[in-house]
Amino acid sequence: MAAATYLDTLNGEQRRAVEHGVGDGGTVGGPLLVIAGAGSGKTNTLAHRVAHLIVAGADPRRILLMTFSRRAAAEMASRVERIARKVLGENKAAVMRDALTWAGTFHGIGARLLREYAERIGIDPAFTIHDREDSADLMNLVRHECGLSKTQNRFPAKGTCLSIYSRCVNAEMAIEKVLGQHYPWCSGWAAELKGLFASYVEAKQAQHVLDYDDLLLYWAQMMSDALIAEEIGSRFDHVLVDEYQDTNRLQSSVLLALKPEGRGLTVVGDDAQSIYSFRAATVRNILEFPQQFSPRAEIVTLDRNYRSTQPVLSAANGVIGLSKERFTKNLWTDRTSSQKPQLVSLRDEAEQARYIVEQVLANREQGSLLKHQAVLFRTSSHSGPLEVELTRRNIPFVKFGGLKFLDAAHVKDMLALLRFVENPRDRVAGFRILHLLPGVGPATAQRVLDQMAESANPIHALCQLPAPPRAGADWTAFIQAIENLRYSEWPADLDRARLWYEPHLDRIHEDSETRRADLVQLEQIAGGYVSREKFLTELTLDPPDATSDQAGVPLLDEDYLILSTIHSAKGQEWKSVYVLNVVDGCMPSDLGTGTSAEIEEERRLLYVAMTRAKDDLHLVVPQRFFTHGQAAQGDRHVYASRTRFIPEALVPLFERTSWPQAASGQARTAAQGPRIDVGARMRGMWR
Ligand code: ATP
Ligand code: MG
Repeated sequence: MAAATYLDTLNGEQRRAVEHGVGDGGTVGGPLLVIAGAGSGKTNTLAHRVAHLIVAGADPRRILLMTFSRRAAAEMASRVERIARKVLGENKAAVMRDALTWAGTFHGIGARLLREYAERIGIDPAFTIHDREDSADLMNLVRHECGLSKTQNRFPAKGTCLSIYSRCVNAEMAIEKVLGQHYPWCSGWAAELKGLFASYVEAKQAQHVLDYDDLLLYWAQMMSDALIAEEIGSRFDHVLVDEYQDTNRLQSSVLLALKPEGRGLTVVGDDAQSIYSFRAATVRNILEFPQQFSPRAEIVTLDRNYRSTQPVLSAANGVIGLSKERFTKNLWTDRTSSQKPQLVSLRDEAEQARYIVEQVLANREQGSLLKHQAVLFRTSSHSGPLEVELTRRNIPFVKFGGLKFLDAAHVKDMLALLRFVENPRDRVAGFRILHLLPGVGPATAQRVLDQMAESANPIHALCQLPAPPRAGADWTAFIQAIENLRYSEWPADLDRARLWYEPHLDRIHEDSETRRADLVQLEQIAGGYVSREKFLTELTLDPPDATSDQAGVPLLDEDYLILSTIHSAKGQEWKSVYVLNVVDGCMPSDLGTGTSAEIEEERRLLYVAMTRAKDDLHLVVPQRFFTHGQAAQGDRHVYASRTRFIPEALVPLFERTSWPQAASGQARTAAQGPRIDVGARMRGMWR
């Protein structure tokens, strides 16, 4: 092969990772682990490796590439295309990119394989997928059926039940252990919870729905069949995974089943950035990876950071250096700068919002696009006052990992209708739709769904049912709509669904005009998918991000500021980064009650936030912030102090400022921030 000049930009270690196993008589090498710190080029190396494999003759259709989000997968595919273009030329690189069809998230890939193998493993290929909220709704339905309603003394709430269930599944841990370790206050309910979970599983199976956890669980179980594992494993010559530190036990077992000897397996990650243990991710996956194979996996470590300036990196290294855990990587950079990260004290969240807006605008004046600046926060609700200020000042923004467009009731209604047509056994969708009909109460809805469930052809059964006495013409219109939708073409059926839904929308919501605009947007999004099933699956797994635009659809080609939870900012970088509420109580989020493992995870979270910055980093410390408190305390303002993760000893790594610099009486009076309904926003937190 001609000397590949596109590798010239890589350093020696990166190049070793890229070339591992390539070129000596074949392109499939033994297992490879790249474990390295933030900004050291792990993702970049992975992209080069994929390009290099393809240039060396690997078939892109036989490459499985798994990343943390669909967005990350798409970015990776573009990077691979850009790199390969230099050797293959534009046309061939574009063809290659189109052939890279197995790039996605673990959940997305799992859903796809499960549909394909459905018949062989005894599930309905037309299964629908429940997002967390649907799952909680189903858990609630089942809870009532089991007689474990809220009214029972202190029985855990539906969301808690779901979290416990999810942890048991993802960590492959017995319920007693999960309760003891993470939910000690629920320990007395182990027997009831077991019964509840058994019924929940039965309900999902009867209704042909899978929740997020099932996508991994079913996939892992499917892979325990040696024949299927061999079949799927042999479809891929290369399996590559980014952000491996945030995978859980099920994911690692899937990987092992795909490639038991590790041939063609590459994983990359950073143990100092593991931030998903609340979803049962375990850093042990990455730490134990080399020993899982014989001979052991090749290990590449990278120690040069290409992202950040020295002062930014020093501050981030300082923060992670105080961790009780030992991370061996010590990053260096040759990007010098005299600008230390800012540690900004100000009065409260309203002032914090104004500070950010001023800085962002000043940067833009100096030629820095809004897109190159990001505001990061611990919890989705923290950006409330900032969102208000940005809207007031007409600054467009996109919010990652926050409240989603798809959470809006009317959008959910439309999606539920489509889901119901796709899978009429899905009771959560069925309830939602039937509730829209005037004259159909919960008892009637339940009766209708029960009668459907008993039939081998539920839609047929539905159409035969007599109209409920008080539903009349609405019932006839509903049945008509369902029949039409069953046989109409995608995406024209969306239009039909909307025609049926709009009168209900007008009846239920006063602001139906703006909501109608969302539905038009939904149709536009739908146009990008080849089938109803694909649309529903992908939207459920990885919804589009919310924006300042009413419709909530990303403003793709305009300039906009990025707002993101730290969790969703993983792997990304911006020229300027502002971190909100760097105070105890937000970071760490739990005022002193967290276990030491939880506190350490919060420290890593701050590290992840800081290492997103290339040139310019601001940690903002409001002296007062609004908190959504424990039941006993309620929502309130609390006085806050700088996060414990930046003790006095680290302060010299920062430039301390306060804002406004000369706090005038006037500025202080103006600081009456709007009251934000934190409670409502909190729901978006873990999504
Ligand atoms: P994270 O841990 O945050 O996911 P990472 O290790 O995946 O970071 P990348 O995102 O791949 O790091 O790279 C960080 C930045 O460094 C990117 O802008 C990338 O283009 C740049 N970079 C990586 N390797 C090199 C290199 N050899 N020469 C120049 N720039 C590089
Ligand atoms: Mg990365």
